[in-house]
Amino acid sequence: MKRLWFAVLTLLTLAACGDTETKSSQYIFGTVVEITVRGVPKAEAEAAFAELAEGFRRMHADWHAWKPGGELMRVNAACGTGEPVRVSAFTLPLIADAKRYRTLSDGLFDAAIGRIVGAWGFHADEPEKGRAPPFEAIRALAAQHPSMDDVSIDGDTVTCANPAVSLDFGGFAKGAAVDWALATLRARGIADAVVSAGGNVGTSGRHGDRPWRIGIRDPKTWGVIAAVAAEGGESVYTSGNYERFREHEGVRYAHIIDPRTGWPVEHILSTTVIARDGSLADAASTALTVAGVEDWPRVAARMGVDQVLMLDDAGNLYASPKMAARLAFPEGPKPRVIVRDIP
Ligand code: ADP
Ligand code: MG
Repeated sequence: MKRLWFAVLTLLTLAACGDTETKSSQYIFGTVVEITVRGVPKAEAEAAFAELAEGFRRMHADWHAWKPGGELMRVNAACGTGEPVRVSAFTLPLIADAKRYRTLSDGLFDAAIGRIVGAWGFHADEPEKGRAPPFEAIRALAAQHPSMDDVSIDGDTVTCANPAVSLDFGGFAKGAAVDWALATLRARGIADAVVSAGGNVGTSGRHGDRPWRIGIRDPKTWGVIAAVAAEGGESVYTSGNYERFREHEGVRYAHIIDPRTGWPVEHILSTTVIARDGSLADAASTALTVAGVEDWPRVAARMGVDQVLMLDDAGNLYASPKMAARLAFPEGPKPRVIVRDIP
């Protein structure tokens, strides 16, 4: 309902906070995006917010994985038949990134599994509750191993060699959108900004004389597990495997899928990655969730990320040494953190 309300209002709410901080709430990919800028006159901030709203509108339409009419849907239709399809310069870089992340993650992040994600019921604003998931159809799709390796790019033309391929940018599009928003603000001379899209936060510059402080949410209490001070344009991305799920006969099926099996990931509640590149951090937080408690250090090394925090459903908190060193915990007993080296 809240989501609908935001969608209908096509949002640009502006509120001046103090003399130097201006905020805007916008909407993209089913999430509210909160933008905070510092040190710019309100009129300049508003002009920038209008440009961001326009960009987000285009991304929302063209990169949508299930609402008809956008460019990704046109590409997916061509993938189903194997026809080559020309892709705009707006969308082509994301297809190239998706191929790169597939390779970097050793197949654990694969944006070609859109049909599997859809079959589980996650191509809907609210995932279906109640009815049994179509297990047989999902098994059959998974057996066709849709992969970004089946997608080739030649100039501006994309061809899919596997009819089970369907692109779904859900695992990294927020990162791409937040990166674009921060770059757009910087190009307008706005150096100090935070853009937050549903637990995924990108930063530029500082909050006055201190760094931006970013909270990492605790999925069990909806409080904050820890906070970090984001320096030099860092992004803090959390992939939550607890909010979007469907339930059948007491079993929860969450929205992060292991491309090797086609089945939802279990036992990991959330994974946070800090990196400079928000799109990579977004993809990595999803990939490491798939990798799980044992394999995440190996996959982090392949993906070139060295700051990771993972929470499993037994309440264990795992972190890389660099992440563990910078976590600031709230008052009270400090949680035990299991530190794992990245090879
Ligand atoms: P959140 O939406 O909570 O930020 P993610 O960034 O992990 O979480 O994105 C999850 C979305 O990514 C899913 O809804 C689906 O669209 C897509 N997805 C699920 N599993 C994978 C995967 N293994 N590789 C790539 N994309 C995935
Ligand atoms: Mg992600």
